[in-house]
Amino acid sequence: MVHFVGAGPGAVDLITVRGMRLLSQADVIIYAGSLVNPQLLSYAKKGCEIHNSAAMTLEETFAVMQEAEREGKTTVRLHTGDPSLYGAIREQIELLEEAGISSDVTPGVSSFCAAASALQAEYTLPGISQSVIITRLAGRTPVPEREKIESLSAHGATMVIFLSAGMLPELRRRLLEGGCREDTPAAIVYKASWPEEQVVRGRVGDLPEMARRHGIERTALILVGEFLDGKRERSKLYDPAFGHGYREAKQ
Ligand code: SAH
Repeated sequence: MVHFVGAGPGAVDLITVRGMRLLSQADVIIYAGSLVNPQLLSYAKKGCEIHNSAAMTLEETFAVMQEAEREGKTTVRLHTGDPSLYGAIREQIELLEEAGISSDVTPGVSSFCAAASALQAEYTLPGISQSVIITRLAGRTPVPEREKIESLSAHGATMVIFLSAGMLPELRRRLLEGGCREDTPAAIVYKASWPEEQVVRGRVGDLPEMARRHGIERTALILVGEFLDGKRERSKLYDPAFGHGYREAKQ
């Protein structure tokens, strides 16, 4: 059995209880060493076989899983944040299915949630934005043409941009082309929930300079949108005049 587990954004106590239990029971752990906090491996049991996938290919990680399965062992494949976002889990699950090896997935706290916590922000502010666009800039890995930043930013919705901190002049240009203003609020959150976390607030026009000033080139999220300005309408959910299934409206 192979368990795909979301490690959370970095802080060792932000893995789920289920994820921690699976880690502590695993015979074999394969972790994404480029982003997973190695301190999480302290939850592993004595004698657990540990592999860092950062220097391994898909075929190599699969071979480790296959070997473990042959020996009747349990494997945890530990992915950063939540495995459903840029986690490359589908290609692994398909190989496992072809080999008749069963697997399951345990979610994790994505870095985009940890970034909102660091900012004490709400992505879906009433009257400001009710949608969150999670995306990335095309780099060495392409992004479908219809999802280019220019088109997405035209919505004016909250944007969370992964994997793009090293390409900020281009990101800035595309955001402005799509309809963001130079003074549209923006933030960079570096290593959310890690001890070295940094939160830099500013404007779309200053994004490259904000990162440069703080020496940020990777492991950061770029947040864009009016939600960062804090202006908003009052929520209906807790409005006395607004009734719903759990509370009657007060006249
Ligand atoms: N599955 C992960 C994302 C993996 S892609 C998740 O749910 O968070 C890797 C990218 O995620 C990084 O380039 C960076 O943009 C972002 N990232 C991962 N951990 C981060 C953290 N703690 N703080 C800020 N960004 C992070």
